[in-house]
Amino acid sequence: MDYEYNSHDLEAAKKLDDFLPDRIFDAHMHIHDNTYLTGNKDDGSGNSTHDRKDVNDYLSDMRPLLGANRNIQLNTIIHPDRRLAEDAAFMSASDKFLVGQLELYPENVGEIVIFPRETTDDIRRRIVHPRIRGLKCYHVFADRPTTWDAYIEEYLPESAWEIADEKNLAITLHMVRDKALADPGNLSYIQSMSKRYPNAILILAHAARSFAAWTAIESVEALRTYENVWFDFSAICESPAMIQILKTVGVSRCMWGSDYPVSCFSGKAISIGDSFYWIYNKDLERFKGATKFNSWQVGTENLMAVRQACIIRDLSRNDIEKLFFSNAENLFRRNL
Ligand SMILES: [Zn+2]
Repeated sequence: MDYEYNSHDLEAAKKLDDFLPDRIFDAHMHIHDNTYLTGNKDDGSGNSTHDRKDVNDYLSDMRPLLGANRNIQLNTIIHPDRRLAEDAAFMSASDKFLVGQLELYPENVGEIVIFPRETTDDIRRRIVHPRIRGLKCYHVFADRPTTWDAYIEEYLPESAWEIADEKNLAITLHMVRDKALADPGNLSYIQSMSKRYPNAILILAHAARSFAAWTAIESVEALRTYENVWFDFSAICESPAMIQILKTVGVSRCMWGSDYPVSCFSGKAISIGDSFYWIYNKDLERFKGATKFNSWQVGTENLMAVRQACIIRDLSRNDIEKLFFSNAENLFRRNL
């Protein structure tokens, strides 16, 4: 894994510097501390390791792209590692790690990972800090062999909705199944639950997981009137789905996110055929043998695509500020 931006990322960052507002609220980034499992200690040097990624790592990895002087605030989401469900001590160490990071950075908020079998009491007991403002569910915790096919109710329990509704929290949902939002089961679940729990804000991560752009383009209209269904634009590397979402639901329910540390991989997610494909290093090497081009990291691809969407939709500076900062601030700090 290569966390160093190449000179071509930095060239792109100059364009981004004119585009990005002074304040950025990253609505979707991940931290993790696996040193509990691996026995390795963080040496506090801020050097990135696979065992641990904290806010300090984020800042040193992302600042070359986001600019040295921008005010950066984060929604720090614990990485939804399958081992969290298998090891209660690891889960509580991760919860403590999140609280520690929130204490270190008072400008940030965070989300805990929730599991399908948790009751409202289980979840309530884990919300031990006022700046835990969201719940992160993930398909890997669904009780089935192929979790990519899981229906949302298999990994997002109703108890999470009840707590989110009661405490005005967000729920970050990276849905799965091939057709994503165009899957009738996914769509009808989102419609019925967001109606039943109007104080919960459901964030459809990755522009409703529209790595295959058509899935959101052809279905987001069905969510136009669902005011508590929001979208984050993290890790999407092509503009069409974001353009359609901005056009259909408006900028006020959209937020930027990096999906760090995914933002630091070299490559790009592309729509292809009826689905999508993640281009990574081994593909890039082959492509570069055939055609001369300079590749970027996912974070650069994403920000350039978001920039394109904003240009095509004629967003004002004020709208861009909402997308990158104030929408997230209003969402995560409401009733704080
Ligand atoms: Zn993520």
